[in-house]
Amino acid sequence: MPAIDLSLGSRSRLAAHPRLMELVRIAGTLAKAPAEVVVMHDNRASVVASLTRSILQPRPFTGAERNLINADGPSHVATPEGATFAVRDQGGALVAALTLTSEIAAGSVDALHGVARLISELVHEQAQPSDVLSPATILDGLRDAVLVIDSEFRVLFANRAVGNQFGRTPIELVGTSGIDLVHPDDLEVAFEALSRLAGGREVYRADLRIVHASGDLYRVEVTGNDHSHDPRIGGMVLSFRSDDRDHELAEELGHERGLLSAVLDQLHDGIVATDRFGVPTLVNQAARLMHGVENDQPARDLTLESFLVLDADGTALEIDAHPVARVVRGERLIDEHMSVVSEGLVRHVRVSGQPVVGAGGAQLGAVVGYHDVTEMLVAERELRDRALHDQLTGLPNRRQLHDHLVWLSERQHDGLVGVCFIDLDGFKLVNDTFGHRSGDEVVRDVARRLITELAGQHFLARLGGDEFIAVLSGLVHPAEASAVAERIRTVMRAPFVIGETQIALTASVGLALSEVGVTGEIDEDTLLRQADIALYAAKARGRNRVELFDDQLALAAEEEQRQHEMLRNALDRGGLVMHFQPIIDSDNGDTVGFEALARCRMVDGPLVGPDSFLDAANSSGLVWELDRKAFELSSQAAATLRRVRPDRTLLMSCNFSALSIVQSTFVREITDTVARHGMSPSDFCIEITESTAFEAGELAMAALRELHLLGFVLALDDFGTGYSSLAHLRDLPLKTVKVDRSFVSRLERGTTERAITEAVVHLARTLDLSVVAEGVETIEQLRQVRELGFRFIQGFYYSPARPLSEILLTL
Ligand code: C2E
Ligand code: CA
Ligand code: CA
Repeated sequence: MPAIDLSLGSRSRLAAHPRLMELVRIAGTLAKAPAEVVVMHDNRASVVASLTRSILQPRPFTGAERNLINADGPSHVATPEGATFAVRDQGGALVAALTLTSEIAAGSVDALHGVARLISELVHEQAQPSDVLSPATILDGLRDAVLVIDSEFRVLFANRAVGNQFGRTPIELVGTSGIDLVHPDDLEVAFEALSRLAGGREVYRADLRIVHASGDLYRVEVTGNDHSHDPRIGGMVLSFRSDDRDHELAEELGHERGLLSAVLDQLHDGIVATDRFGVPTLVNQAARLMHGVENDQPARDLTLESFLVLDADGTALEIDAHPVARVVRGERLIDEHMSVVSEGLVRHVRVSGQPVVGAGGAQLGAVVGYHDVTEMLVAERELRDRALHDQLTGLPNRRQLHDHLVWLSERQHDGLVGVCFIDLDGFKLVNDTFGHRSGDEVVRDVARRLITELAGQHFLARLGGDEFIAVLSGLVHPAEASAVAERIRTVMRAPFVIGETQIALTASVGLALSEVGVTGEIDEDTLLRQADIALYAAKARGRNRVELFDDQLALAAEEEQRQHEMLRNALDRGGLVMHFQPIIDSDNGDTVGFEALARCRMVDGPLVGPDSFLDAANSSGLVWELDRKAFELSSQAAATLRRVRPDRTLLMSCNFSALSIVQSTFVREITDTVARHGMSPSDFCIEITESTAFEAGELAMAALRELHLLGFVLALDDFGTGYSSLAHLRDLPLKTVKVDRSFVSRLERGTTERAITEAVVHLARTLDLSVVAEGVETIEQLRQVRELGFRFIQGFYYSPARPLSEILLTL
């Protein structure tokens, strides 16, 4: 029984049949074994449906399947590993099989036959025998030419492959003499073969040359056997296999070379291969592009002159020095920098090359590759540019500032060098109010103004944010530097335009001067630090001004440095101490709460107040550490007071800087601390100054609103010293306003302070805020504030801030 193949189309149609899987499942259930439906091929089975496999692939025949194919006509074969049931077409030919890959129970055989029959029906439904299963169709599917010839060598049948092999159609051949196909010189061999075949059923092989219709000769291998006595065939069946190995090989080689050059054409690297004389044999597309060589120009027609290569300095290379020539001479090149030119376009390349050496060691040719690094170099330059320039303004950045100062230093000119540290006042507010994009616009405008003002005479860099540095050189007198700095300040006063709005901004400038003289050295670090100190002073002295670094500023900076060290020391060694100042209800003299005020113990013993360390804390960033430690100690004290006087409700007021409030962990840490001491948020009042709340921007506002929601009491501290804007009182969920001591000390009738204080008290009343008068020292002041409507008082009149131990004695 010959193996039968279903065409791919009908096989997949069968596979897609909805009932098939159901039948396979039934078969599996009946046999209690994994079931498969397969179609049969020459030497393997194609799985169409399987109970166990989801990916259906061809597999080798099982033993049962092989037996089924080889034996003639059984309806099923069982072996110890499994069983197979034949699926036959209407003519009875084996077309597929139902296979169970483990032993089956004897009782299920009949049932499985039924399933196999159902599958047969499916096959009939799916594939019309005429279309797929007739022997002619099957023979037409073969690659080998098949002829059936009668005893007179007349062609009775020819399959479709004869078209390819003999260059004739089957219809042309049928009825003609098969002998005509054989080359005259091989006729003897042909007759010999046919006579051997005649009568026997053996297979005989012979090598012959066949004359193709085109006149070409093809060597074929003929096999055949004699079916003359089979009435259905009545002749010898011959099959012809083309034996032209060289032909196939050549075809394959051609294919491979085509593939290779297609692959090479895909590469971005240019490749030039030559024979051992330096004649190009292959120039891929990238190399053609780099050298400006037409695609249709055969490689062999090209010479090295057509590949112009420049060395790293840009000089065109002589033919002898050409990389290809060098490799042809046996040199190896590794990553040499060169450039290639085509139509005026220069590409930077790294060239590598290697001689091609045959098995015997003789050089056969050369291969040279160009790796195009132009884009990389451009990207590197861009990166370098980015590294040196500020992206927003295109101005030099800090690194280039350094290079410039070094360069100035090396010029060793006589004269003065000035460094201006320029910073906008309140720029943060612009960012917070109008958004960063508008902030960027302002920064660009500032840059433009500075560039115009410095008019190319001086160097300008941007450090980031709204900070700029101008390096003034070629000056003779310090007054010139001050004049430039002053002009810089003035150009910032013209309004900045943000969309529809115009806003007024000012700038502070810190100026430091350095003589470039005898030594020619500029101490960059010192100069920049001095300019920074001067800027800081300009800010502290009211902004919108120029400060020149001098000895006095140096002293102030030293003092701050000293403060910083003292504070650092105190924080590290438990030197932070809290004192508590009572807040009194003046109606009855009762203490309603305390304000916690920080003190630091100096290394040598005495305690100092915030005046001695707060500036340093704020400018160095130590303030958050200070505030959270202070709050920890204050919470602890509040818990102690609660334990001593559980009957009293005492509010603990604590101070926080803007820098603390904008810490990302601020709210969480404060809340945790309160909980850790068994207290609740409503036992604490958070005091913030106006500038803290409104200058620190939306972040601070958000934190404060969150604290309010958590139950903390909020108080606005030092009212009257900052913005003093009554409108601000509505913007925050405040409970209390503390009016600054500077007002309390000037409450005589007719003063502005009194008028303002009256207004505040009035507004507070309408907003349902309580007011605290700070710094009440005398009985006269107490009378005045009470007259104005203040009930809660904090001041030396009642008590200064005292350590907890003393407070406990008075409660
Ligand atoms: P403040 O919040 O306005 O605190 C009140 C200040 O006025 C305290 O000064 C207090 O001793 C003082 N004072 C109270 N009554 C009178 C009086 O009748 N006459 C006079 N002349 N002064 C009085 P202190 O303790 O020197 O604190 C100064 C500032 O330091 C505080 O002003 C507060 O803003 C800040 N501060 C204190 N502790 C901390 C803290 O832990 N963290 C932060 N960030 N700031 C703190
Ligand atoms: Ca306070
Ligand atoms: Ca205050």
